[in-house]
Amino acid sequence: MSFSTLGLDPSLLATLAALGYAAPTPVQREAIPAAIAGGDLLVSSQTGSGKTAAFLLPALQRLYAPATAPGIGPRILVLTPTRELALQVQKAAHGYGSTQRMRTASVVGGMPYGLQLKQLSRPVDIVIATPGRLKDHMDRRTVSLGRVELLVLDEADRMLDMGFQEEIDAIVARIPKERQTLLFSATLDGIVGHLAQRVTRSAKRIAIARVAETRPDITQHALVADNDAHKVRMLDTLLRESDVDQTLVFTATKRSAEELSGSLLGKGFDVGALHGDMRQRERSQMLQRLRDGKMKVLVATDVAARGIDVPGINLVVNYDAPRQAEDYVHRIGRTGRAGRAGVAVTFLGHGDRHLVRQIERFTGNVVTMMVIPGLEPRNMPRSFRRPG
Ligand code: AMP
Repeated sequence: MSFSTLGLDPSLLATLAALGYAAPTPVQREAIPAAIAGGDLLVSSQTGSGKTAAFLLPALQRLYAPATAPGIGPRILVLTPTRELALQVQKAAHGYGSTQRMRTASVVGGMPYGLQLKQLSRPVDIVIATPGRLKDHMDRRTVSLGRVELLVLDEADRMLDMGFQEEIDAIVARIPKERQTLLFSATLDGIVGHLAQRVTRSAKRIAIARVAETRPDITQHALVADNDAHKVRMLDTLLRESDVDQTLVFTATKRSAEELSGSLLGKGFDVGALHGDMRQRERSQMLQRLRDGKMKVLVATDVAARGIDVPGINLVVNYDAPRQAEDYVHRIGRTGRAGRAGVAVTFLGHGDRHLVRQIERFTGNVVTMMVIPGLEPRNMPRSFRRPG
């Protein structure tokens, strides 16, 4: 399968060839023709799947046609959760659109308003924005969204996890109803599904299965916990193991990340928390302390921890078990970096036996049940006893 069957303009095909892209990735194969056809899309796919090109190529293609409305505002609006991602998308737009005459602007938090105001006062084709800063410009009437033909929500799950729901709704309310909307997210369930219902019309769903990797370099254990107090005692023991360098601990909610890191701090651990409610600056500082080895334990939520690449992390603890096997794969993949070995330990409730089976089936890895001497669960549920 090659790019030439997807309905892309020859100039874009030439650019892709020049970039050395031999064939479309699965998400590109599915999403590009569907997006060019004009309908709304809900796409579940991961970072690294080639999703950026999957929405940018149809977006750039759209610019070959004349604008549907006069004015200077953007024809294409891409919303992303973070400044880093926005800048990455902007760079990719210039890469894929290198043969085109088009103007882009990034409208992101943590950057001075001056340049953004200048860029928004001139005609612009593509605006890539984080929701908070774009809403600011909207409120100050320094951006006009009345000409937007295509709205892309990139990593919608992360935007919601970071608390941008209100801003997104306010922004979408200012965009013409006769637009195309492409929503990309790791998952389409839960609150993402509700957002999708509000912002898309008769959307086609595209689900790209992620290829699970077996990780023989990561030793995987599960421990049954009776309750929170039991979990805390087990975590304490694990963190004091002599061969543990740095540890990443996962909790289900932002609040429990704060609470757990607070209680570990009280016990004298060098610990911090990382979650979507924190400002970009705080998060960057936290990650820098981890990279510098100044912090031994980081307590994080799934979304905030995605992509962390710190070779010193040789233990991952799922303090709260992941809801899905996909999340498990993301979490344990934060250890075993740079060719080192890692250990992943998952705390399970008494009713969670099915989770281990699901994870084993999904990953092809073996997760071994373990007990810490002196901290055995009160009643080991029968379902956890393995034959042999
Ligand atoms: P993304 O998931 O959009 O962050 O893309 C991951 C990486 O894959 C980026 O560095 C892209 O440049 C690259 N990429 C995207 N599509 C292709 C393709 N069809 N062939 C080769 N590399 C690609």
